[in-house]
Amino acid sequence: MAKRLQGKVALITGGARGIGAAAARLFSQHGAKVLIADIRSESESGQPVSFVECDVSSDLDMLNAVDAVVSMHGKLDIMYSNAGIAEDRAPGILSIDPQVFRKVFDVNVYGSFLAAKHVARVMVPKCSGTILFTGSAVTASYGLAPHNYTASKHAVVGLTKNLCVELGQFGIRVNCISPYAVMTPMAAEFAGCDEEAYKKRVLPDHLKLMRAEEVAEVALNMVSDESKYICGLNLLVDGGVCLKSA
Ligand code: NAD
Repeated sequence: MAKRLQGKVALITGGARGIGAAAARLFSQHGAKVLIADIRSESESGQPVSFVECDVSSDLDMLNAVDAVVSMHGKLDIMYSNAGIAEDRAPGILSIDPQVFRKVFDVNVYGSFLAAKHVARVMVPKCSGTILFTGSAVTASYGLAPHNYTASKHAVVGLTKNLCVELGQFGIRVNCISPYAVMTPMAAEFAGCDEEAYKKRVLPDHLKLMRAEEVAEVALNMVSDESKYICGLNLLVDGGVCLKSA
């Protein structure tokens, strides 16, 4: 197997489980040195990756996570800002607790901003690096998820596009991937039903529920040097579902 990230150093937020854990496994199989930053202290990635406890919505935690990578490996080439939450399954605008709205923004938006801010400190002086954010198919189709989650993922796309311009002048690529339903612990908690019932609810018959490993493959493509001219993209990973329902 050609190792596509040989010699690279990657930080993956939210890498203890789900899509982030699959990416940690895949990136390390492709030769990257990987550090996971997560609030969970156990990782299911199953690979010899390093781990730091970090709440992405804490400025100090993100600073420490980036510094930990640099002190371990002397550099940081890839920031995969993947940590995200979906709180409250159906918070109508009349009943949602404003604190729930804010919490989703703290993790999904502020956490993405802090990841970029702290990694830019390291990447700008080197004039190289890539940042991959995590959006969602809710940026292409409405009513799939609660408004707090949808609004937060739109903000992440805004960050992506603006930082692409701002950091592009330093040779830093910034992109976002936006998956549709992926079978992860988050999806299981969010759906509140078994996998078969979830699939029936969210997908047309001809499609299978995506696996975390399949999203990790897309992330690998986006962060590897083969994608060096891909910048500012919000890449939908949805099997065409959103286009069909638009
Ligand atoms: P998951 O809940 O299975 O994993 C998320 C990881 O993020 C967990 O390890 C969790 O501990 C960590 N995390 C949560 N809050 C954190 C914080 N404050 N600081 C650090 N780490 C934190 O979720 P997943 O399904 O793997 O989702 C990963 C990303 O993909 C999220 O941004 C999510 O919004 C996005 N996404 C998921 C789906 C899906 O269907 N699963 C679809 C579209 C987008």
